[in-house]
Amino acid sequence: MISVFGSANMDLVAYVAKAPGRGETVTGHRFRTVPGGKGANQAIAAARAGAEVAFLGAVGDDGFGAELRATLAAAGVDVRGLREVPGPSGIAHIVVDDDGGNSIIVVPGANGAVTGPSGADLAAIAGSQALLLQLELPLPAVTAAAQAGQVAGVPVILTPAPAQPLPDELLEAVTMIVPNEHEAAAITGVTGPEAALDALLDLVEEAVITLGAAGALYGARTGERLRVPAAEVKAVDTTAAGDTFVGALAAARAEGQPVAAALRFASAAAALSVQREGASTSMPTRPEIDASLL
Ligand code: ADP
Repeated sequence: MISVFGSANMDLVAYVAKAPGRGETVTGHRFRTVPGGKGANQAIAAARAGAEVAFLGAVGDDGFGAELRATLAAAGVDVRGLREVPGPSGIAHIVVDDDGGNSIIVVPGANGAVTGPSGADLAAIAGSQALLLQLELPLPAVTAAAQAGQVAGVPVILTPAPAQPLPDELLEAVTMIVPNEHEAAAITGVTGPEAALDALLDLVEEAVITLGAAGALYGARTGERLRVPAAEVKAVDTTAAGDTFVGALAAARAEGQPVAAALRFASAAAALSVQREGASTSMPTRPEIDASLL
């Protein structure tokens, strides 16, 4: 089983020719609500990739919370550890303009009420093959979950997004870190993926830097280095490409696939996801991933 201790947000996406300035009202072309949040996205990606997944987090007592819970459950994710707290669910208010640029406001809502793993969360974490973490819950809660994983001997995989300074207590409990190129540069202060990878390996045992259409770069303190190409595909929407990559990578590792095979599997899953719109809606199923690897 894989545990994901993380965020669930409803994405409220408005499509408009040009984003409004202060005091301005504009008419958009289209609006969608899309279940998201990095935690929920990674949980759904891992479940679709074939893993048994438990999601640990919180939603509010509003309609968005009910919809987020139903979406996770429909993907086969165990939601017994998803609590309901009074008040609104987390939301991301997203404006996408005709040039494909976006501006985003995240209001954490119920995610901000997660102060740490509950007793039931600790039991779930201890019984997992991997623990997936991101930085959309309060940092002390993420750190406590990572430490619980470390104590139980469970590999802790951190997506360091949104980028922010990482306390030593957190890094000491992380087994593998999976930033994109920008996050890797922000964490290490080093530019260029090869140099950033070396710097990340001073902090944790294993690291993967995702490089968009250029694939990904893996390294371990053992000295192993791998470059994983991305399939050449027509990208329609790269939202949650990184979350799909991590979810699929964790699913493959939890099955005991060797690291090179697990990285190829993750890259194939992410390449499928960028060919479809949306976040959770774009994530491939296991048969789709297997077929694309043939
Ligand atoms: P994030 O979504 O976190 O910013 P990236 O943009 O690095 O992360 O993408 C994560 C992974 O998704 C990449 O390592 C790659 O495997 C896949 N990917 C992203 N963009 C493309 C693309 N245009 N074509 C094929 N694969 C892609």
